[in-house]
Amino acid sequence: MDSHVSHWVDGADWAGDGGRSADVYDPAGGHVARTVALASENDVQVAVASAARAWQSWSRTSLTRRMRVLFAFRQLLDARKEELAEIITAEHGKVLSDALGEVTRGLEVVEFACGIPQLLKGGYSEAVSSGVDVHSIRQPLGVVGIISPFNFPAMVPMWFFPVAIAAGNAVVLKPSEKDPSAATWIARLWQEAGLPDGVFTVLQGDKVAVDGLLDHPDVKAISFVGSTPVARYVYERGTANGKRVQALGGAKNHMVVLPDADLDLAADGAVNAGFGSAGERCMAISVVVAVDPVGDELVDRISKRMSTITVGDGRSAGSDMGPLVTGAHRDRVASYVDSAEREGASLVVDGRDVVVADQPHGFWLGPTLVDQVRPEMTVYRDEVFGPVLSVVRVPTYDAALELVNSNPYGNGTAIYTNDGGAARRYQSEVEVGMVGVNVPIPVPMAYYSFGGWKSSLFGDSHAHGAEGVHFFTRGKVVTSRWLDPEHGGLNLGFPRND
Ligand code: NAD
Repeated sequence: MDSHVSHWVDGADWAGDGGRSADVYDPAGGHVARTVALASENDVQVAVASAARAWQSWSRTSLTRRMRVLFAFRQLLDARKEELAEIITAEHGKVLSDALGEVTRGLEVVEFACGIPQLLKGGYSEAVSSGVDVHSIRQPLGVVGIISPFNFPAMVPMWFFPVAIAAGNAVVLKPSEKDPSAATWIARLWQEAGLPDGVFTVLQGDKVAVDGLLDHPDVKAISFVGSTPVARYVYERGTANGKRVQALGGAKNHMVVLPDADLDLAADGAVNAGFGSAGERCMAISVVVAVDPVGDELVDRISKRMSTITVGDGRSAGSDMGPLVTGAHRDRVASYVDSAEREGASLVVDGRDVVVADQPHGFWLGPTLVDQVRPEMTVYRDEVFGPVLSVVRVPTYDAALELVNSNPYGNGTAIYTNDGGAARRYQSEVEVGMVGVNVPIPVPMAYYSFGGWKSSLFGDSHAHGAEGVHFFTRGKVVTSRWLDPEHGGLNLGFPRND
């Protein structure tokens, strides 16, 4: 991996102004591993201009040729996914198997996009009026911006760019400055697959790059994923500038465990979904809602499983859970454990003092379990985004539902039960975009759409699936008359279909 990560413009590494850069860490070692360029306002102009030029010909490239590039990209990505997983682990910290899982979920969206010709088919109505036919088409938007978070440096961009590119758009990706290398690796792969230079651009940077994209008149749409305050800001500024925006925000995902649930299954699910990727997943389970009387038994089973988790370098085969992404983030997450203790919750497993041999400077925080959490506590109210699982105890199903629906976030949720009627009620009544029944992380397949409700999504389009295709295209309806033997003559009245 390079010691400096630059932009990717016009099919090559590009230094840009070179004025600003940021440190990128090796989170397991706890040291700076490389630097990344931070775009200036002028860099944004250059990158978007390149994408806009490339779009002119890409949007006119036949669907068949576009699909050949997509298929080639799919093959290359599948063949070299381990390479990408290693890059993710090096900068994010998640264990290799998890990084590989992330790439695989992204690959599924590429596979979905390979079938886009079927989804771009319009409708046709013959003879809607005498000699008049109507057909509909969907066309690409132009240059579209993707702004992604640190926690899925490959999968989250892949929720969007395969569909955007397949539909004939040019993409400018602004990855997280915390783990920027995956994006440029992907850019090189596109080039190898035959994508014309400029159709996939990587603009490294921070708020300056984001604001530049939000304000640029040639950027027609923004797909954003990140924390709720930034999502709200991106949505408001982007739409104020006339853009189409989908802005996916933060999360606080609840797992409701009913008294009739299989408690071993529920405990496995809580541990996997709470501590996988060190809790740095937007679909991580953050709160277990134990419906009386299962609380004690469930906490016991969860804590026993937690004692078997090995925290360590994501590159080592024996590690189950890696470090957090930066020291600052580690300290912020640990501060929620401090606050929970202060505010009267009961600390069942404390991960603050975890020690990883040979890597004393890594950004470690062990799996942490906090019981007797109440909704007014800081650890419940905020998105923690780390390996801290809270348990809230409630007396009934109705109280559990009320708790989940009162939460401002609505990304994912799960219910554990053996009662089909209760599960059916929950999936209908819960105000959350993605629901799992005895499934802790219900991430939809690529041909369904991914997205939350309430403060977890601003805009009305979810990612990928039919909604993604709709987001990256706009409709046009053509009404045509050919070879009509009878001239209609003058008639200033509104056209009537008879
Ligand atoms: P973040 O909001 O800090 O950053 C996201 C992106 O916005 C990055 O590219 C960053 O450079 C940029 N950014 C940061 N601050 C900005 C500002 N003030 N103005 C303009 N741009 C800014 O998020 P993160 O810490 O990288 O990622 C974690 C967050 O993402 C969590 O809240 C998580 O829940 C959320 N997330 C949500 C989903 C989802 O599907 N809803 C998926 C993954 C992550």
